[in-house]
Amino acid sequence: MTLEHAQKLDQQDPLSAMRDNFLFPTDEEGNELIYLCGNSLGLQPKRVRELLHVELDDWAKFGVEGHFHGKNPWFDYHSFLTESMAKVVGAQPHEVVVMNALTVNLHLLMVSFYRPTSTRYKILMEAGAFPSDQYAMDSQARFHGYDPKDAVIELAPREGELTLRTEDIEAYIEEHGDEIAVVMFGGVNYYTGQALDLKRITAAGHKKGCFVGFDLAHAAGNIQLKLHDDGPDFATWCSYKYMNSGPGGVSGIFVHDRHADDTSVPRFEGWWGHKAETRFEMNREFVQAHGAQAWQLSNAPVMLMASLRASLDLFDEAGMDALRAKSVKLTEYMLDLIDNFPSERFEIITPRDPEQRGCQISIRTLFDGRELFDDLTKAGIICDFRRPDVIRIAPTPLYNSFEDVWHFCQILEKCTK
Ligand SMILES: *Cc1c(COP(=O)(O)O)cnc(C)c1O
Repeated sequence: MTLEHAQKLDQQDPLSAMRDNFLFPTDEEGNELIYLCGNSLGLQPKRVRELLHVELDDWAKFGVEGHFHGKNPWFDYHSFLTESMAKVVGAQPHEVVVMNALTVNLHLLMVSFYRPTSTRYKILMEAGAFPSDQYAMDSQARFHGYDPKDAVIELAPREGELTLRTEDIEAYIEEHGDEIAVVMFGGVNYYTGQALDLKRITAAGHKKGCFVGFDLAHAAGNIQLKLHDDGPDFATWCSYKYMNSGPGGVSGIFVHDRHADDTSVPRFEGWWGHKAETRFEMNREFVQAHGAQAWQLSNAPVMLMASLRASLDLFDEAGMDALRAKSVKLTEYMLDLIDNFPSERFEIITPRDPEQRGCQISIRTLFDGRELFDDLTKAGIICDFRRPDVIRIAPTPLYNSFEDVWHFCQILEKCTK
């Protein structure tokens, strides 16, 4: 496995030119670093600046009139993102809206779908979920008067295993589902990189009368999602990881069509959730917009959305099918290379089965993890370290190359000899 071989794979890659749309971080001498951290913050598309300038210019030129007379009238700005975003997550356009930030949206969706009763009040999630999700679920339980220690169930892998088995999740729901109000899992685990089977988990939850939702922070723009067909009640994700919208970028939500115009679903409401046609009549009565849009509270953060648009245009151009095909090749290539230099210093904990992972590979360090991470950083790799012992490496198909992966593996081998 030579550098020439990696370069040949890049030549054969139909998406190789997408890389030119992004700005890569450099070291002090201006050399490009090897960026493998799209799982944490995606790179900046070159067009972000231009799209932001359009809005800055319209703001300067029109002031408040930009809401209706700008090049991209701000009144409807969120709607410019809907179709592309719906494609990324496999939803119908009215099932998706871009708004707020991820944890905020998780709470808003729990307001709608966590409706505990005296016999059915539990929340089922995975053990080792992202801390924000743990805090959100605990505080939701407390808000409704329950003790999270009792109400929030964290399902752990079997003794001696590092990732969950779908059949174990199904069996748990089958046995205890009558007590569970909401099943809420991370679609791809931030730590292990495991992708769950959303369809089977949704079916298991619905069979027992639970609402089912997913946090897709690490799944959106990474794996192929079919939210409409898989059928969860709700989902939310951020756009600054695989979707490159920039730090603090705006989040997306999905509410399944079956709840689209259901006025019995409780919701925290605001004026942007009001039907657009009559929103500015400023009437006392709230008339809900169709579908997910009814969950909007505030007017659109146009600058954040302009930034996201630059990346969504690239997703439209590449398409999730092609991105996912490349992603599987990139990770398989990386795992093959790593297999060639067994080391006592680490093991891969992400499932080998491509169906059970996206582009993130989690390397569990067996000792001195922080030191290994520092060595990789010194050698020009940007990746991240998550306590207690995992280094996350994410070759993202939009802008990473086989050559990036090859260089990374060379450096990893050198650092772990
Ligand atoms: C990244 C991430 C978050 C971050 O939440 P914000 O509200 O965007 O700060 C939350 N949950 C999961 C699962 C994540 O991966």
